[in-house]
Amino acid sequence: MAGTFDVVVVGGGPGGYVAALRAAQLGARTAIVEKDRMGGTCLVRGCIPTKALLQSSELYTQAREGAAFGVVADHLAFDWAAAQKRKTSVVDQLVKGVDGLLKAGGVTAFKGSARLAGKGVVDVGGEQIQAKDIVIATGSAVARIPLPGAELTIDSDQILELKEIPRRLAVIGGGVVGMEFAAMFAALGSKVTVLEMLPQVLAMVDADLVAVYTKHLARLGGEVHTDSKVSEIAKQDGALQVRFSTGGEGGAVDADQVLLAVGRVPYTQGLGAEEAGVKLERGRVVVDDHLHTSADGVWAIGDVIGGIMLAHVASYEGVCAVENIAGQGNRIPDYRAAPNCIYTDPEIAHVGLGEKEAREKGIAVKIGRFPFAAAGRALTLGQTEGFVKVVADAESGKLLGAHIVGPRATDLIAEATLAVQNGLTLEQIDLTIHAHPTLPESLMEAALAAQGRAIHIPNRKNPPLPTGEQSEGAVSASSSGLSRRVGERGVATEPSKITNRETNMAAPVKTSSPPPTPSAIDPKSLELKKENRDFLLGLHRQMQLIRRFEERAQEQYTKAKIGGYCHLNIGEEATVVGGILALKANDWIFTSYREHGHAIARGVDPKAVMAELFGKETGTSHGRGGSMHLVDYSRRFMGGYGIVGGHLPLAVGGAWAVKYRKQPDVIFCMFGDGATNIGAFHESLNMAKVFDLPVVWFCVNNRYGMGTPVEKASAVADIYKKACAYDMESIQIDGMNVREVLLRTSEIVEKTRKDSVPRFIESLCYRFRGHSVVDPDKYRSNEDKEKWRKADPIVAFEHELEKEGLADEEYFKNLRQEIDAEIRDVIEFADSSPDPNVADLYKYTYAGQWDNRPELRTDRV
Ligand code: FAD
Repeated sequence: MAGTFDVVVVGGGPGGYVAALRAAQLGARTAIVEKDRMGGTCLVRGCIPTKALLQSSELYTQAREGAAFGVVADHLAFDWAAAQKRKTSVVDQLVKGVDGLLKAGGVTAFKGSARLAGKGVVDVGGEQIQAKDIVIATGSAVARIPLPGAELTIDSDQILELKEIPRRLAVIGGGVVGMEFAAMFAALGSKVTVLEMLPQVLAMVDADLVAVYTKHLARLGGEVHTDSKVSEIAKQDGALQVRFSTGGEGGAVDADQVLLAVGRVPYTQGLGAEEAGVKLERGRVVVDDHLHTSADGVWAIGDVIGGIMLAHVASYEGVCAVENIAGQGNRIPDYRAAPNCIYTDPEIAHVGLGEKEAREKGIAVKIGRFPFAAAGRALTLGQTEGFVKVVADAESGKLLGAHIVGPRATDLIAEATLAVQNGLTLEQIDLTIHAHPTLPESLMEAALAAQGRAIHIPNRKNPPLPTGEQSEGAVSASSSGLSRRVGERGVATEPSKITNRETNMAAPVKTSSPPPTPSAIDPKSLELKKENRDFLLGLHRQMQLIRRFEERAQEQYTKAKIGGYCHLNIGEEATVVGGILALKANDWIFTSYREHGHAIARGVDPKAVMAELFGKETGTSHGRGGSMHLVDYSRRFMGGYGIVGGHLPLAVGGAWAVKYRKQPDVIFCMFGDGATNIGAFHESLNMAKVFDLPVVWFCVNNRYGMGTPVEKASAVADIYKKACAYDMESIQIDGMNVREVLLRTSEIVEKTRKDSVPRFIESLCYRFRGHSVVDPDKYRSNEDKEKWRKADPIVAFEHELEKEGLADEEYFKNLRQEIDAEIRDVIEFADSSPDPNVADLYKYTYAGQWDNRPELRTDRV
């Protein structure tokens, strides 16, 4: 017996040697067997030699283009032999490094070909090694296909040893290996032709990224034939000819060398795997979730098990397997965030879900893109081709995938990988300070772009919807007239972020202007805990934003900037924010004329709301409605109806439409207590109940209908009881507590969504100012107002947040300053916006807008 070990690893590639080192770290007596050189395919014939040569070709390209940078090189030439020599020395150094690491780590290395020779026994050239556990890490080998003339081709091992650069290179296979060599030799002056059977080279990469690479290749004289099947390779006039057919038409390419790069296959030759009870399936070793094979005490990792055949995945699996062996955890590999890097020119890297893949899985996504042409660092490098694209879950904002084509994409992907792996959101990325000027800033900008807040490019025409099943396509299809015009002027559609001091904060502060997007509303998600902090602070910010908006609107009214009435909701913020955020993107809101806060809570741009109050063309209704007509179809916000209670029958009509179309949407009808005294209220409730319509009636009871206290205006002061007359489930909630409003409203809304039965909510709050700016508010005492002031919903929520250490006074102060600045911008925007064109006065009424905007007639937002 040549030795007895706890763990014997067969194969010294990045899977095997990393597994061996980790096993030794865990205290296992460990041996590794390698028949060739330590480092495996990766170090000897794969990742490292190719990247060393690619570095030479990149430098050559840069030197050729150096004049513009002031680097003038006469008689520039490429010395292939020198590049090869450097490549060899890089490989040698790394192989030596691995040998040294194994030695230092206490791993015993055996040189030779290993064979499984019975339970717990490995045979190496006739010598037997005993092992409690064996890890198969024998990697992969070049795949071959039965193609006439295949013997005339070279593979990825042989191309690395070429003595000269081929004048013409044909590459059969558009996978990663083929494309990296194509990029390299095209840069070195070869005439490269790629032949790929599929409709796209790099089939696993999003098409928009691939297009950047193939365009670059074409500029170097390269050709790509997709949907092309090679039939044979033949000798022709002292060179080679590759014959192929594309859609039934024959073609031929002459070449000096033909690279056959049709993939790799798991390698188990001479291992005696099946004899030892290790199940193989089409050549790959079959493993369970924990990387254990069908044979007792035998594990397998890396290329030999198939799946994602990449060096870092092999290493990751190696660590998982030996930690399972050592009983250190119960590790099941998680491949959601396995990055894939392609060292073409420009480089490509991606991680997580692609745009198409996510949509195919039925996930509604937000997409953000940022071109390197807009990145300062890319410009200084002179490498502006390509872009960063992020794919995020529309509802939670979590990053699902990132896709980069451009300079150092393969390095840039690291940050996105960390984010995908850890479920970080777009906001968490953009709240992280990125150094300037650097390429990673582009990821931050793409994350901002996905939220309609990019700084260094104009934003998409419309910011994302507040909640629910929204996709990028849908956003653009339903953009409001206002946002379109704002976008055209290049004004950011969302205001700037808060600059807060983070000293005592446990986590970054949520600072975005759009309302926060709850992923699910349940008691747990609203607990005052650190994990809910961003969302809770988002709620608080939204309330504060609405309040400041109204306070400033009041001032603008007194300056005669706002005509007609200007109604105020001050004090009702918890009711408004909690009520509206309980809805999904496809639910409809019917509300009355006092709805500026309602619109903002629904995600309508405050600039558009203020501009509407100012009667400007950039307002939500092109300045035609003022405070009486705030509507935004894209958010299903059917706001503004000038007659008290006049919109309740409209809500019934909306509910009929939803029911008729069998849509899972809820109609949310908001009104004040005054509206509950008129006939339309009773007719609407009755109708909704008789026909089982999916309406949630939401009464914002601020205790004063115009100037009359509720108890004086109505025989039944508890308004929720009025709904009982219609046999309707009806609740009364504390409208000064945003968490309660959100939770209880969400429960009711979801019930109604399920059974299409109307329900009623009375949210008890208190308005601190008069009903409108012109209301002298003489009908109630200062003591009454003062008493209620103590229950201010914003202050009360701030106390709760502070008590639980989720925010502090400094934070609130900074937030107030930041919101002040935002509202200043909002007013400036409204002030400087144009008046409506008199000739267009009859345009953009509801019906006209409908006629002119066919996209609004689509079924779903
Ligand atoms: P290998 O690295 O293949 O190692 C297996 C080892 O086992 C070999 O050294 C072999 O000699 C030894 N062995 C086999 N059988 C026996 C036996 N019976 N006894 C003893 N020893 C045995 N991946 C990336 O992540 N990034 C890249 O940029 C990249 N570039 C690549 C470029 C090329 C041209 C190629 C071909 C591959 C590239 N790869 C790249 C893939 C990467 O090299 C592999 O995924 C990785 O090497 C797999 O590691 P492994 O440990 O599973 O197997």
